[in-house]
This record gives sequence, structure tokens and C-alpha cells, in this order.
Amino acid sequence: MSAKQVDINKWEEIPCECGAMASRSTVRYRDYDVRGWICKKCKKEYIHPEDSLKISKLEALKKSRVRVKIRTVGQSLVITLPKVIAELYGLEKGETVELSPENMKKIEIEIQ
Ligand SMILES: [Zn+2]
Repeated sequence: MSAKQVDINKWEEIPCECGAMASRSTVRYRDYDVRGWICKKCKKEYIHPEDSLKISKLEALKKSRVRVKIRTVGQSLVITLPKVIAELYGLEKGETVELSPENMKKIEIEIQ
């Protein structure tokens, strides 16, 4: 017998503890807007487990920070994004990001 894999990203509704159904919505979790479900009846909020995990990883990275070395490719300088960062933000080769210089010591990278 083979177990069927479920894709909860397709779940528009999930059963709530109160017996009613919770509909897919954006839920506020810590300081983030994440995927989740909100119960129509009791207003209880459920957080998407993938987003909950992502936030835990993000919070851990914020605390430890990530140091990378600058390399060169031809005339350009290259900053490598470690795998943990690439996975967290869903970044892949060939994607474009936007760099915004914040001040003389900080550059912000925005994912498109
Ligand atoms: Zn409920």
C-alpha cells in the first residue's frame, strides 16, 4: 500500500477546534504576515506550518547573522548567498534581486 502525499497549499478550508471551518487567509504571526486560516465562527487563527518553520529559521538567522566573503568574477564583485538563505527566500539561479544602498555601511536586497 502506498501513502498518498497531501498538499495543504490547496486546502481552502480546515476544520476548527470549535467544529466550524476555518478559511484560508493571511494571518499575523509575530511581526510577519503569513499564510494561514481563520475560523469564520470563533475567529481562531491557524498558521501554515511551512511559514511557521520559515519564521523560526529567519529568527535564528537574524540572531546569528550570516558572514560571507566577497569574491570576484571578471570585473565584478560577487556576494554568495548561502544555501540556507537561498532556500528560506526561495531564490534560484537566474533570478533578479534589487539592491538599494541604505547608507555607507548597509545595502538592502529586495526579492522581486
Ligand atoms: Zn472556530
